[in-house]
Amino acid sequence: MHFSSGINRPPYETADGYLQTTQGCSHNSCLFCTYFKEPPFRKSPIEEIEADIKEMPRVFGAPKRIFLQGADSFAADYDVLMKTAELLRKYVPSVETIGGYARIDNFYDKTEEQLRNMAAVGYANPYIGVESGDDAVLKRIHKGYTAAQAREVLEKLDAAGLPYIVNFLNGAGGHGYGLENAQKTAALYDGLHPTMVNASMLTVVPGTPLYRAVEKGLYEESTETEKLEEIYELVRCLTPDTIFMNEHASNLFHVRCRIPAQKEELLSYIRQFMERHDEKTLRRYREQVTRAF
Ligand code: SF4
Repeated sequence: MHFSSGINRPPYETADGYLQTTQGCSHNSCLFCTYFKEPPFRKSPIEEIEADIKEMPRVFGAPKRIFLQGADSFAADYDVLMKTAELLRKYVPSVETIGGYARIDNFYDKTEEQLRNMAAVGYANPYIGVESGDDAVLKRIHKGYTAAQAREVLEKLDAAGLPYIVNFLNGAGGHGYGLENAQKTAALYDGLHPTMVNASMLTVVPGTPLYRAVEKGLYEESTETEKLEEIYELVRCLTPDTIFMNEHASNLFHVRCRIPAQKEELLSYIRQFMERHDEKTLRRYREQVTRAF
């Protein structure tokens, strides 16, 4: 099978089959990122996808879910994604849903009707690296879109009935910027219907442009305590009925719960976690994290 960057997937997508529809990242410019640097972005030709799908039962057995590979697998053209679903139905009939990493701009060229068609053939819960609802933060990390553009895409997905997961990059705004970032990100999701708000914590990794910005005094990292205050504020302000999860290794603590049903319990847990851990201890954890998020 064609896997150009090894297998990359969120912690909860371990039981899936994997299939590459794109390689690399179509953006490849986020200042903090350590992923998908090589090879360059490319859309897989349908012949290559078909050959991989035919091989899937031998490699992955009979998976119920496919997690497409590539930094933003939904950058693949609509026709290719629809044909991929058709081929999966034919050769791997156990497959019920198809997800993958996505960027907000992967959906600019797909109409609401096309997204509805995609939902009908099994596309569900792409993991979208929204990261922040604050334009200043999005600009600072070179994310490549604005909060308004993100909102427009997520509203379109809601209207099309294609469920999605969003990621929050805790600490992306840098020192002194966490609370505002949390409030604006919660405001972005107000009235929307993400299946899950997933949080990861930023680690500024040597070799990244963000690390160089820190060295030059152009960007000041959030402290670990600030990151905890920020995640507390995000949870406090979030309004959708959704799952909150932060199971990635970058996080200082790991939870998966429903909000608003378990919001108070979660806030209490974060408060207690903050009381029990000082900055020095938390920083030691951060120093052994090797990936950006
Ligand atoms: S964070 Fe995602 S979108 Fe940004 S450069 Fe890395 S892989 Fe690409």
